[in-house]
Amino acid sequence: MRYFQPAEISGCLASINLKKLWDMGKRGIILDLDNTITPWRTEEITAEADTFIRSALNLGFSLCLLSNATRSRAKKIADFYQLPFLAPALKPCPLSFKIALKILQLPSAQVVVVGDQIFTDILGGNLVKCYTILVPPLLNKEFIGTRFMRFLERKVMRRNL
Ligand SMILES: [Mg+2]
Repeated sequence: MRYFQPAEISGCLASINLKKLWDMGKRGIILDLDNTITPWRTEEITAEADTFIRSALNLGFSLCLLSNATRSRAKKIADFYQLPFLAPALKPCPLSFKIALKILQLPSAQVVVVGDQIFTDILGGNLVKCYTILVPPLLNKEFIGTRFMRFLERKVMRRNL
């Protein structure tokens, strides 16, 4: 069950302590797209996500977007911040995380994975031994597959707590 357990659960992106992560030796962030920085299927980045990305870059973190969404959607957002990206990734497949680590040129011990889904972001991040942070999803309007996963996530979380 420990693979489903995030290292941290954050109430929102804004409450992630970037300075603390930096002091822990973290230098890279693998960031999810849908429901983490943009409401599902939109190309709009929330103000909070914008602040998070800019603060992380200002502190010196390297960022990489890792998304199961289409390439064109991920590219638009990645290009806006001039970030590298990998999409469509097959999260939680460890290979996509390994490619992201290669893009960042950092060992997993120095990389944080931030995302809203236990079965993709957290599981995949834990499998490659990154530091995983779960944030609540931005929107509930999702396709049925994800809703089913949320149901399972709630079950897992209950067991973790
Ligand atoms: Mg997501």
